[in-house]
Amino acid sequence: MLRTHNCGELRITDAGKEVTLCGWLQRSRDLGGMTFIDLRDRFGVTQLAFNMETDASLCRQARELGREYVLQVSGAVTERSNKNPKMPTGDVEIIVSELQILNESKTPPFTIEEETDGGDELRMKYRYLDIRRNVVRKNLELRHRMALETRKYLHDQDFIEVETPVLIKSTPEGARDFVVPSRMHQGQFYALPQSPQTFKQLLMVGGLDRYFQIVKCFRDEDLRADRQPEFTQIDCEMSFVTRDDVLETFEGLARHLFKAVKGIDGITFSRMSYRDAMQYYGSDKPDTRFGMRFVELNHLAQGKGFKVFDNADLVVGINAEGCAGYSRKQVDALTEWVQRPQIGAKGLVYVKFNDDGSFKSSVDKFFDQEQLQAWANAFEAKPGDLLLILAGEKDHTRKALGELRLEMGKRLGLRDPDTFSCLWVTDFPLLEWDEETQRFYAMHHPFTSPLKEDLPLLDSDPGSVRANAYDMVINGVEIGGGSIRIFDRPLQEKMFAVLGFTAEEAQNQFGFLMNAFQYGAPPHGGVAFGFDRWCALFGGSETIRDYIAFPKNNAGRDVMIDSPAPIDPGQLRELNMKIIE
Ligand code: ASP
Repeated sequence: MLRTHNCGELRITDAGKEVTLCGWLQRSRDLGGMTFIDLRDRFGVTQLAFNMETDASLCRQARELGREYVLQVSGAVTERSNKNPKMPTGDVEIIVSELQILNESKTPPFTIEEETDGGDELRMKYRYLDIRRNVVRKNLELRHRMALETRKYLHDQDFIEVETPVLIKSTPEGARDFVVPSRMHQGQFYALPQSPQTFKQLLMVGGLDRYFQIVKCFRDEDLRADRQPEFTQIDCEMSFVTRDDVLETFEGLARHLFKAVKGIDGITFSRMSYRDAMQYYGSDKPDTRFGMRFVELNHLAQGKGFKVFDNADLVVGINAEGCAGYSRKQVDALTEWVQRPQIGAKGLVYVKFNDDGSFKSSVDKFFDQEQLQAWANAFEAKPGDLLLILAGEKDHTRKALGELRLEMGKRLGLRDPDTFSCLWVTDFPLLEWDEETQRFYAMHHPFTSPLKEDLPLLDSDPGSVRANAYDMVINGVEIGGGSIRIFDRPLQEKMFAVLGFTAEEAQNQFGFLMNAFQYGAPPHGGVAFGFDRWCALFGGSETIRDYIAFPKNNAGRDVMIDSPAPIDPGQLRELNMKIIE
């Protein structure tokens, strides 16, 4: 080794030792008689001291060094007169007797410290420099720990990690595929997997019983904030299980990760049907760190002459506790907030439950105090509370109120990132109707089993069939999802038929799976977790990019290696492809 110690480990008990350290020059301070350098590596920072009186030439040499020079220094560990309690190594410094420049560095384009002056793009372009910063390095360390603990837990539960192929076949279901032209089979293409879904099911047919993989997946989707074209899943599948077996196994994984990575004990999971989630929270991934459940008012608010309510499918509200004191301006601002195109509500009705027990509302013309009291009762509101009510088409109104609920939760400080509320949302609809293409799509994927009791509806009313599917939601973030699968050929064929596939199309695209089902496929089910997102949640950040070593930017580009990029004409010729001008 070029060093005896790293830059994070020396303590006062090491005083007197002769040591050699390697690292990067983070900062230097020249105080005339003394020069100090902070030397950084992955493990920490150690102060180096150079004394003009005892070694003038070495001290002069030290003064010439630039930021991010790579150094090897030897010297004696010495107690500092000016201790720094904020640094683990802050009690000591190295009185340097030998200095080697291992490499020089150009002046970095941004400061490599806790707080940096570099903008997003610049830091992405020089990601290797950004990784030298504590914050980024800590995120990658957290990610490593999460992966390690995931493997430990699943291994202990008899799961085995199996790699599935990356060059697979494109299918029209789901998101858009990334495709890879084949040189050997010109005019033909591989596709990169959006998930190993069919392979993990085939591993169950293969009798592996419990599979997992921490695996890269690829989706060529239009980019949205916090989406990456390549991302990582913890992908899992189990045989001979019911839904509850799967949920319990992965509650166990969550509990293990919370304990091992965050030091948090006693995590519990609640369960909520998709229907309830939509009805009471206006979202299929409700943030259950706080209540503020929806209360429907149709029976109390309709038929009293207020057109907006009378013409609405749904009149529904939330109780913002303790907000009756909101000023006119604050309420107007909320109204504008819900009217923004992203939220899309037409207006907002408010009822203030004053401290003296009276009510003041934006619909006083239509509703008297007694009627407003009945609303307040429905909300179990108390004096000092503020009711916020929306009306309109059912799904749209629920969604908008769901957004308002989150916003109020934020304003009221009810969404503490250090509090965790975990739940499973279950019984999703199996199918989603698409107006544009006039057909059903699988809400999850076409391999998801319907709930047994809903099977008869598959012919008569497919839209109302519920899936044996579930999502894990933590603090309003969808961390993962899965389902119990179809495992017999006739039902799988039927599912494809409901999705508008002809028998030939189904056979062409998914024949390999349906054939396998004919050779003793076991009942099975599984789940996949968004690994990047789980890391971000544990790290207390909203952006998954921060937890990926070399992420793409918002436009899906890698600005460091400058990709995607044209390829060499020779390569194109080999593939028998032409550039379209
Ligand atoms: N493969 C599914 C997905 O990527 C998850 C699952 O059903 O296990 O969403």
